[in-house]
Amino acid sequence: MIEITKTNIEKAINKARQTKPFVKVIEFRLYSVTNKTTGANYTVKFTKINNTKYAECNCKATVVCYHIGASIGAHIVLAERMNTAPA
Ligand SMILES: [Zn+2]
Repeated sequence: MIEITKTNIEKAINKARQTKPFVKVIEFRLYSVTNKTTGANYTVKFTKINNTKYAECNCKATVVCYHIGASIGAHIVLAERMNTAPA
């Protein structure tokens, strides 16, 4: 599990913009990311503990990888939708 910071997520988002992987929502906080060129598929999971955001990806990277960068966009949209959803 890696802590998400403004710096490392920005880098990951930039890399994702170049790579443009396909992101599928499995469930809230759980995303499937596929590299369209290689077909490689990874699962990204987001966790929030005491207002600190963490992410984990099952690829080999030990940093905030572009899979995390690609899925955070979908994650933010979903999180906002859930926060603003009528009770
Ligand atoms: Zn990854």
